[in-house]
Amino acid sequence: MRVASTKPLPSLQTRSRKELPNIPRPLHDQQRNTWLQLPAKQTQSALPQYPARTQEVGITLQRGGVWPTMEKGVPLERAIELALQYPLPKHTEIISLDAARGRILASALVSKVDDPRFDNSAMDGFAVISSDCQRPGAELTIIGTSQTGGETPSSINSGQACRIMTGAPLPEGADAIVMVEDTEANQEQVIINGPARTGYIRRRAENLSIGQEALPAGTLLSSASIALAGTMGHGEVEVIRKPRIAILSTGDELVQPGTELEPGQIYESNSHALASLVESMGCEAVRHESANDSMDELRTTLDSLSTCDAILTSGGVSMGEWDLVRKIMEEEGNISFWRMKLRPGGPPLFGTWKGTPLFGLPGNPVSSLVVFHVLVAPWVAKSLGYHEEMGPRLSHKVSVKLEEGISGAPGKLCLRRIQIRSENGQLLATTHTHQGSGNMHSMVAHNGLTLLPPDTDGEAGKVIDALWLL
Ligand code: AMP
Ligand code: MG
Repeated sequence: MRVASTKPLPSLQTRSRKELPNIPRPLHDQQRNTWLQLPAKQTQSALPQYPARTQEVGITLQRGGVWPTMEKGVPLERAIELALQYPLPKHTEIISLDAARGRILASALVSKVDDPRFDNSAMDGFAVISSDCQRPGAELTIIGTSQTGGETPSSINSGQACRIMTGAPLPEGADAIVMVEDTEANQEQVIINGPARTGYIRRRAENLSIGQEALPAGTLLSSASIALAGTMGHGEVEVIRKPRIAILSTGDELVQPGTELEPGQIYESNSHALASLVESMGCEAVRHESANDSMDELRTTLDSLSTCDAILTSGGVSMGEWDLVRKIMEEEGNISFWRMKLRPGGPPLFGTWKGTPLFGLPGNPVSSLVVFHVLVAPWVAKSLGYHEEMGPRLSHKVSVKLEEGISGAPGKLCLRRIQIRSENGQLLATTHTHQGSGNMHSMVAHNGLTLLPPDTDGEAGKVIDALWLL
């Protein structure tokens, strides 16, 4: 993760609200609701005096004079669909296996070899002919040793055995292995005291055949999948080049943790959480210092971040007159949708800034994280073709039985924080702390989110869908 700049943060006294008197505040509020009632004199004035939108499908004024439509109050599925109209670019690069951990395969990997390459022993012991070992105490003549990486005695005949190491090739004629623990041997003879098992032979290609696809495109390269890539003969892999995703918190009140607070200031936490989520999704996080609630500062910062592949902002997208991310996107950006039918996490917007996809996430810490989980993460995954099972993921969808009643939300998908635990073969869910969207502790004290459909309550004992957060 990179921090894009280290500009000093202005104190509350120097914050730039003084810029805003140019925008008559009552008018700004009025514009939100009264597109048709605006006096002509106001519609002819400067850009900020144009109405923002109509009620359901809004209209946004662009600097270049374009008037795209904006959807308002969209369900989650529609929000993902609209965002996917501006997917992340998918580029690839070839890297060595040593650098592959956490990267995502761009193309499927097929095996260059059979695995195992040849019949071999799963045990240290003796390769034998099973019919020679029917009675305990059978005595066989040792004809040599089969070693890993060494020469293999070509074959054995009835009455003979071959010492064999784990992984060493099976001599021709042998059809079973006796574990060394079940034998007594000197240089020439071995007495067989235990079973001769065919199951101790690992057959050629029983795991993978040459040409077989074992790792699909979109797989997150874990330690195990890196080992499998190696097993299949790949020293290098083609992976998705990490998209660069900029993160910008906005708000005059925000101060980086670890510094002194002045009256009215709070510690900024969202950008840190979002950066770690971005990296968990296989992308590079470019975390910027938080921006003040100033149109000029936002414009300059968004311009500088628009070289990234996407921008995540937090804060400033609600109804308030200081919610300037929404305002600047309305006036100078391009908004696809604003507000979602979600609780928490109603205020987000999505659009483009100078062609760069931009998610305006809510400022409330729980909301910004939750919206990342349900909206941004699926957008990243679908944009880049992550594999549904094997790709990076932040949660698992599960069914849970509610131990206590949880109220839903009218008209909104309800994402209450729950603690999920397994008991007697069933997943049970309960809640510990209050559910305020500013209460980040509630995200840590719980490990899941309900997926209560709109207008549905979760009565105690009911089984509902939920996300188990990883
Ligand atoms: P906003 O959406 O900008 O109105 O912010 C909603 C609430 O979230 C306010 O109480 C903010 O102080 C708080 N908030 C906004 N951004 C952050 C952030 N980056 N870190 C922590 N709290 C924030
Ligand atoms: Mg704010």
